[in-house]
Amino acid sequence: MTSKFFQRTDLGRDAAPLLPPPACGGEGRGGGESPRRRSTALVSAHPARPPTLALPTTASGGRGQVGAAPLRSIDALIAQGLVAPARSDALRQVAARYAVSLTPAMAALIDPADPADPIARQFVPDAAELATLPQELADPIGDAAHSPVEGVVHRYPDRALLKLVHACPVYCRFCFRREMVGPGGDALTGEKFDAALAYLAAHPAIWEVIMTGGDPLILSGRRIREVARRLAAIPHIKVARWHTRVPMVQPERVTADYARALRAPGKASYVAIHANHPREFTAQACAALARLADAGHVLISQSVLLRGVNADVATLAALMRAFVENRVKPYYLHHPDLAPGTGHFRLSLEEGQALVKRLRGHLSGLCQPTYILDIPGGAGKAPVGPAFLSGCENPGAGAMVEDRFGVGHAYPPA
Ligand code: SF4
Repeated sequence: MTSKFFQRTDLGRDAAPLLPPPACGGEGRGGGESPRRRSTALVSAHPARPPTLALPTTASGGRGQVGAAPLRSIDALIAQGLVAPARSDALRQVAARYAVSLTPAMAALIDPADPADPIARQFVPDAAELATLPQELADPIGDAAHSPVEGVVHRYPDRALLKLVHACPVYCRFCFRREMVGPGGDALTGEKFDAALAYLAAHPAIWEVIMTGGDPLILSGRRIREVARRLAAIPHIKVARWHTRVPMVQPERVTADYARALRAPGKASYVAIHANHPREFTAQACAALARLADAGHVLISQSVLLRGVNADVATLAALMRAFVENRVKPYYLHHPDLAPGTGHFRLSLEEGQALVKRLRGHLSGLCQPTYILDIPGGAGKAPVGPAFLSGCENPGAGAMVEDRFGVGHAYPPA
């Protein structure tokens, strides 16, 4: 049996050899026609583009500069050449419904001359977001159904989410919590924070707490240290996990001191890094990841499989290798959730399985994420394949196992 996924005629745009892995973006990055290098060449010739793509290290100035303000309006995006004025009416309608923010680090990565730029697609509003499909849900993964107290989602016995803030430095156009996040989104403070911690303390089965939001790393170092200290005081909590996009989109925020503040004394500490495209691994982002790893956090990844961003095997391969090269173990590749106005990002589960199957054939085991689906409505996560084993439904008959070339092999019964 030959898998359809390995027939060369089926490969389409993925037929080219896998891209050389982007060890790290920015100057001095390794060879090959990486998306980042291709973008740089294109952008250099664009008249509206600043003369360099390098992320500056000065503390003031315009797009791409550390310390510059995020772009939070359609007017700001137009002023930076990231949105054509002709699109502004539709995009103002989008911005009136879903928050907009783009950090200087991400704005600097966008090639305005490329209408299919994968970074722009993640952060710059699109008129397609105005179309809400019947199957799309305001709360696609059903957080509300499992929230016993404000700020806590307790879906599984041994772990709980602690939603510390509803704001983010960027607003992803595919966000599964897009109806809940935005500027001014309430932070969990005072009595509400105390009540959430009291709930965690009162449930000894909770072994792991996952800090999420919004993006918890938008909080100050002082506040982060306070959260870590409070978690450390609860004996049955053994693992603290932070979910964040900040090291990639606002890497200057993750100083060595900030990385240390995230450590809850006496607990195992994990940081789940959200990135979706290898171009996000700028030199600054790689340095932020190194500071986190050097501070003693175990780094794991999460990415969303997104049409027009990373839904091809070469991009996924480069992304997973970039994670591993930066000491981030690929963890979850999420099938996109049924968030409102995100249909243009979604592909079918069959398409997703085909891509993941080809990763299995091409890449080191270290680079393999679990392809995961959040069951709509709140029933939790389920790995969605692809399957390499068949025939197990007949007891005593053995099974067929498929190798990386799609060839089936009989495996004897026990
Ligand atoms: S960083 Fe996370 S929570 Fe914030 S907009 Fe992006 S996906 Fe949503």
